[in-house]
Amino acid sequence: MTKHPPEPFRIKVVEPIRLISHEQRVAAIQEAGYNVFSLKAEDIFIDLLTDSGTGAMSQRQWAGMMDGDESYAGAKSYYRLKKSVEDIFGFEHFVPAHQGRAAENILAAVMVKPGNQVPSNMHFDTTDANIRARGGRPVNLVIEEAFDPANLHPFKGNMDLLKLKAFIDETGRENIPLGMITVTNNAGGGQPVSMENIRSVAEIYHSYGIPFFIDAARYAENAFFIKLREPGYADKTPLEIAREMFSYADGFCMSAKKDAIVNIGGLLGVNDAALFQNISNELILREGFVSYGGLAGRDLDAIAIGLYEGLDEDYLSYRLGQTAYLAGLLRENGIGMIEPPGGHAIYVDAGAMLPQIPQAEFPGQSLVVEMYLEGGIRAVEIGSVMFAQPDPLTGEVVYPRLELVRLAIPRRVYTQSHMDYIAETLVKISKRADKLRGYKFTYAPELLRHFTARFQPL
Ligand SMILES: *Cc1c(COP(=O)(O)O)cnc(C)c1O
Repeated sequence: MTKHPPEPFRIKVVEPIRLISHEQRVAAIQEAGYNVFSLKAEDIFIDLLTDSGTGAMSQRQWAGMMDGDESYAGAKSYYRLKKSVEDIFGFEHFVPAHQGRAAENILAAVMVKPGNQVPSNMHFDTTDANIRARGGRPVNLVIEEAFDPANLHPFKGNMDLLKLKAFIDETGRENIPLGMITVTNNAGGGQPVSMENIRSVAEIYHSYGIPFFIDAARYAENAFFIKLREPGYADKTPLEIAREMFSYADGFCMSAKKDAIVNIGGLLGVNDAALFQNISNELILREGFVSYGGLAGRDLDAIAIGLYEGLDEDYLSYRLGQTAYLAGLLRENGIGMIEPPGGHAIYVDAGAMLPQIPQAEFPGQSLVVEMYLEGGIRAVEIGSVMFAQPDPLTGEVVYPRLELVRLAIPRRVYTQSHMDYIAETLVKISKRADKLRGYKFTYAPELLRHFTARFQPL
């Protein structure tokens, strides 16, 4: 037996990639204002920017797309998706949306009023921004272990239950229109949430009459971590575990571009009929009719099939094994990261690798640029570029606790040799890390600034 299970698929279609020369990479990153979001994809060798919408669909999903029913209303594709969603998530009502943030936008539009607060373990950046855009305040109440990159807690995505109770008592139930939890916790390192924690969080929210929503982008990886790590779940299937997770919630929003392994799509589901009516009205205004929600009929079929493929045990063993393999290579070479590695990504501790660069000069950004220059690899900063914000009361900039660089691994796309190459590139950089310098903004918008900001090296 190999240490990590081999890919449970073989490759039928290939997409060529190429490494352009070092001079060309220097010119490309300058042109992009040192923001890897502005690079041309063809100038990238290995793209770890995100695992969102970058997965490889299966032959069954492609066949499903040919079956797509493009009727404006009541398409067969919609009913096939409805069957999958009801079977896995179990909510009484649902709508498709064009991606996760569209579902979040609609949820925030119908639930969040100015001055409201919305607790979660950690909101992902688009959820955070959608709550803020409606005048609300996102609040992160993850356990303290989440902030210690070396702590091996098996469920570092868990909510701190004492903090949650204290927060609700302080804020007042009337100012909290909904409570959330993100599985797995993307912004905190792709760390899972235990079933016990989901159950307790639900009990707390419900004891105050607060509706409980799960941000479910990585429901399948979370379910598999529960199977591997939580007592009592070893003999359950990921599907059974997923069903139990969602049985405690009143609704969910989800980007289907992650664990449903499609290139575009999202879902929003609830039990409450009156709330669903408001959601439908908002969806028709912003996305499209309730049976397609801004997607083509064929996209709905790809999701309906992908939702189950994401839960397949052989797939999940390979998937989490591949991430663990890359983490192992980095660990052997002394490169610090959030431990244990999450499901979909490695979060390199750029703050620890580049102690000479202060947070105000973006150590994570520096490492991201260097990975592109050294190896043509695109990663993403998850640190002060993404999250440093002036405090609304004092105006003083509040920095995040960790400066991370995320290597997100697309599903069913890269092989073990690609993982070796990524590790070799990072090892080369770590050997001359003391020579790297920081960056400053030359342009930065107010919301979600990391997408379009421009930088200058210091
Ligand atoms: C990706 C993601 C989103 C946003 O979804 P998009 O499809 O990119 O709009 C929201 N929450 C989490 C946890 C995510 O990972």
